[in-house]
Amino acid sequence: MNQSQSNSPRKLQALLADDDIGIQLTMSALLQQKGYIVTTVGNGLEAIDASSNNVFNIILLDIRMPEMDGFEACKSIRELENGKNVPILMLTGQDDTDSIKKAFEVGATDFVAKPINYILLGFRIDYILRAANTAEELRKSQQRSNHAQRIANLGHIEWNLAHEIVHCSRGVREILLLPEQSAFTNFDNFINFVHPDDKDRVKSSIFQSLVQGDALNLEHRVVRTDGSIRFILQISEHRSNPKALDHMVITMQDITDRIDTEKRIHALAYYDDLTGLPNRSLLIQHLDRLLKAAMRFHHTTAVIVFGVDKFDKVLESLDQGSAENLIKMIAERIKNLCRESDLLSRQLFVTQDQEDISYQQLTAKLKNDEYVIVLSEISSLQAASVFLQRLTEQFRKAFQLKDREIYITTTAGISLAPIDGNSTNRLIKNAEIAKGFANKEGSANFRYFKQELNDRVTRNFSLANDLRKAVEKETLEVYYQPKVSLLDDTLVGVEALCRWNHPTMGAISPIEFIEIAEEEGLIGELGKWVLKTACNQLVKWKSEINCDFSVSVNISPKQLLDEQAMKRIVEFIMDSPISNHLVEFELTESTLLENFESSLNFLNKFIKMGCRLAIDDFGTGYSSLSYLGSLPANTLKIDQSFIRPIDSSNQYTAIVSGIIKLAHSLGMTVIAEGVETYTQKTILAQEHCDEIQGSLVSLALPPEDFTTWLKAWEVRKMNSDSDSDSDSDSENEIAGSVTQWH
Ligand code: C2E
Ligand code: MG
Ligand code: MG
Repeated sequence: MNQSQSNSPRKLQALLADDDIGIQLTMSALLQQKGYIVTTVGNGLEAIDASSNNVFNIILLDIRMPEMDGFEACKSIRELENGKNVPILMLTGQDDTDSIKKAFEVGATDFVAKPINYILLGFRIDYILRAANTAEELRKSQQRSNHAQRIANLGHIEWNLAHEIVHCSRGVREILLLPEQSAFTNFDNFINFVHPDDKDRVKSSIFQSLVQGDALNLEHRVVRTDGSIRFILQISEHRSNPKALDHMVITMQDITDRIDTEKRIHALAYYDDLTGLPNRSLLIQHLDRLLKAAMRFHHTTAVIVFGVDKFDKVLESLDQGSAENLIKMIAERIKNLCRESDLLSRQLFVTQDQEDISYQQLTAKLKNDEYVIVLSEISSLQAASVFLQRLTEQFRKAFQLKDREIYITTTAGISLAPIDGNSTNRLIKNAEIAKGFANKEGSANFRYFKQELNDRVTRNFSLANDLRKAVEKETLEVYYQPKVSLLDDTLVGVEALCRWNHPTMGAISPIEFIEIAEEEGLIGELGKWVLKTACNQLVKWKSEINCDFSVSVNISPKQLLDEQAMKRIVEFIMDSPISNHLVEFELTESTLLENFESSLNFLNKFIKMGCRLAIDDFGTGYSSLSYLGSLPANTLKIDQSFIRPIDSSNQYTAIVSGIIKLAHSLGMTVIAEGVETYTQKTILAQEHCDEIQGSLVSLALPPEDFTTWLKAWEVRKMNSDSDSDSDSDSENEIAGSVTQWH
């Protein structure tokens, strides 16, 4: 093996394998002149040997050589690490097409036919070298790109739309854990790896990107061959002409680590790591959203700031593990009381620079440990206090730590949106102020931000307790208000109205105590007791005065939703001593509207049993009149707020007249509530209203007074009937005489 060197600074290496000494000399001279260091060998074996020890920039191989020919040598050199990409030029005989063909088969880059035209060969070598350099650059760039793709977990899919042939890069195979050689033959091969819940979305996004030429930017999950799930980001370019689209390249990136990190960052930023509860930042965001919605839909939202009394003292007696356990248990108990729509958050007032503080320091800080509970869309202003009552109940039970039991009490402050403020910070601040007041009054306490609410809640608490006793001991009363026909003033029925004469506070309005009964879960019992009392009273009147009128009983919205309570009513009616057609149930219009589907079941049952149904307070629920026809009701009670103005407003008269006509067209009886004046009565009679109820006839009376009233009513009615030669003065007299009975 000979090596010859030129003075050229370019250190290009050439290997020349030819057994012809003449060719070796001339070719070497040419190559050296081009700046190559030339290694010459005389056969194929030596060429392989030289290639394995050196990196050449070009190899020239004669085909015909002793020991091993050029074909064999070329083939072997290609298998060497050094020889994979080196340009190999084969020296073939003139027009020896078989050899040329074979040369390419064994991996030659190009050929030169003998006799050699050295001028042409010079150009050929330059060209081959340039092409080889370009290819090498490309290879390096490909390698760099592959490397970069691997680092970035990138891959790509090429989709030839016409032939459905899909090329998937090594990156895609790595993401999906597919074997090295596996390939996709159509796009469904890839879609099969998409997570079942994301499949439809992925398909439609890709389809849309195809049809509209939009760029694709899609995050979804894939299920890998080992069953694990990864998050993928798919991106494709925007195409200016989607119709011309025949080829689509979609880049994919495995973004699972990023998503995991984001989740961790989110958890750290928005959740308390000890209890897993949302922290103050998330609370503020959530409350902000809630407030906007509450304002739009006129809902009330309660913000409760709540802390454990003397928590620092409690913590001082515990080691770190027990303290953390206790905090988790506290959080769990509160969480169990919250509805899904409520937000419970833990506020730890540890500032940034205190992240690394010691446990002792942290314990000192924890005395400020607070919870904030947001109750959204509360049904009454008292809902927050009801929640806190339940919480107090929960905290009455001891917290069981490994070696001891801990009893704790809590103090809370409540603010309500929008009445106590309509900004997040104001509401939390006001609840904190309220908590501060509560703390001053002693532990195990709570306060509303506004004084009048505190008064109302305090009153409600004691009323609730007393009402429970009154329902149990049956010390409530039922009063009866007559309903008379406008045709002939005969008594057609009575409405049973519950009364509560509180031992110290005197008469409490049913509007107030019915709401308390609903909140305290007493309404089922109370409602059934009123029905039973009214039915028994009717039986009594029947035997005493042989009357034949009906009794109406109010059913409250909460009662209607209490299936057990309603079943008890149905059972009672089935065994009732009075004929079912004499029992009417009054349901407010809004109750029926809100619980239409669920109410219908019981309403239909009542109708089937022969009872009557009345829509109470009609006009207050803003229902569309047309919906009336879908209810199985017999009677429509026009609310007093429509009746009161009719003697001074033609507009109201027109509305009332419209309601009466519509109800009549649906076959319903119409009764006007709260009729107080003779003018109202006259107008209602002119408008063909059927019945009236109100102070003009009589307010609700206790049963003994009612019998007296009835006797007097009958007498006066008879008198008026006898002089009913109808001059208007005599009618005025009847009305006057009746009114005297109030
Ligand atoms: P409601 O069912 O619409 O009853 C009519 C209310 O109007 C009664 O008020 C009655 O006393 C009052 N009223 C009658 N005539 C006149 C009048 O001429 N002028 C004025 N200003 N008011 C008149 P009350 O007894 O205070 O009852 C209020 C509401 O409480 C009732 O409205 C009903 O919704 C509810 N309620 C009363 N008793 C019961 C009961 O036993 N069960 C249920 N669920 N609710 C009841
Ligand atoms: Mg009523
Ligand atoms: Mg009413």
